[in-house]
Amino acid sequence: MALLNKNTESEFAAERAFVKDYLDRVPQTCSQPDAKSKEYRDKIKKLLVERNAVLVAHYYTSPELQSLAEETGGMVADSLEMARFGTQSSAGTIVVAGVKFMGETAKILNPEKTILMPTLEATCSLDLGCPVDTFAQFCDENSDHEVVVYANTSAEVKARSDWVVTSAIALDVVDFLTSQGKAIIWAPDKHLGNYIQKQTGAEDMLIWDGACIVHEEFKTRALDDMRHLHPNAAVLAHPESPMAVLEQADMVGSTTQIIKAACERPEKMFIVATDAGIFYKMQQMAPDKELILAPTAGEGATCRSCANCPWMGMNSLANLYDSLLNSSHEVLVDAELCEKAMLPLQRMLDFRKNQA
Ligand code: SF4
Repeated sequence: MALLNKNTESEFAAERAFVKDYLDRVPQTCSQPDAKSKEYRDKIKKLLVERNAVLVAHYYTSPELQSLAEETGGMVADSLEMARFGTQSSAGTIVVAGVKFMGETAKILNPEKTILMPTLEATCSLDLGCPVDTFAQFCDENSDHEVVVYANTSAEVKARSDWVVTSAIALDVVDFLTSQGKAIIWAPDKHLGNYIQKQTGAEDMLIWDGACIVHEEFKTRALDDMRHLHPNAAVLAHPESPMAVLEQADMVGSTTQIIKAACERPEKMFIVATDAGIFYKMQQMAPDKELILAPTAGEGATCRSCANCPWMGMNSLANLYDSLLNSSHEVLVDAELCEKAMLPLQRMLDFRKNQA
């Protein structure tokens, strides 16, 4: 079962145009260190100390932001680990380099802390494709179903759910619910939902029709050609990729699981189907391995390159500096909404703790 938001494609086209315009307007620093980026880095380091702030960056942000997070005692991680790091840090301010739902999640888990972001305009096609009104109506119409939503959703959609999961834990949660005989609503990523349904054998699972515009670009036939060109390479794919790509993968997993696979698997070469930002951490953790980006059609990305999330690309040293200097781009979530969205998030964190 799938719901299709007819406006999705035109809305994404408008979003892409918006992101391009934003990148043209906002000064960007390049990923190769230069005098300007060094100046920003030094100023940001000083401000982080002065403001008792810590920087957490997602794997899909630029290498310069990821390295800065590491150098300053922050963290580079997937969205689950980013959320947990915030709860464990003693810093009063958490600066989240990522997209809007990550900042909101940090605020929900840390309502007493100040959450800043380099930009509040960076969002996600999955979040955009799951508006709360339509989604709540769908849930009401299927009220005998347990509602499981991916972390890439708004605070409002989280508050309407029973479980919030990330790609690192989604399979285990759905497997558990299926073993309890529960019927499930899954939202918003259809590719991840289809993959989970196939893996768990969940029979009664209604899947929302959302997609990540970055992962949807990975192309099956070109990947097949690439595998023939590099027969000894293993294909590592994020489950937001289309099923035909996942079927060619030697390993399917979250960003953290992909990095772990590159470190632990015996192959020397990997074809990677996820955002190219992950290469910073993969190369750092597995320096002796050769990494190749899986082929894309290139339409979901900005002009910078293929397989780059346009919204993640809106984070820069310049707007990070501005946010810290002026305490601007603060993430605010209504207290009552925070409490409601906290329940399904806490359920995921408790589930994870019980697994350990
Ligand atoms: S890569 Fe895809 S899922 Fe991740 S933030 Fe960008 S649009 Fe959303």
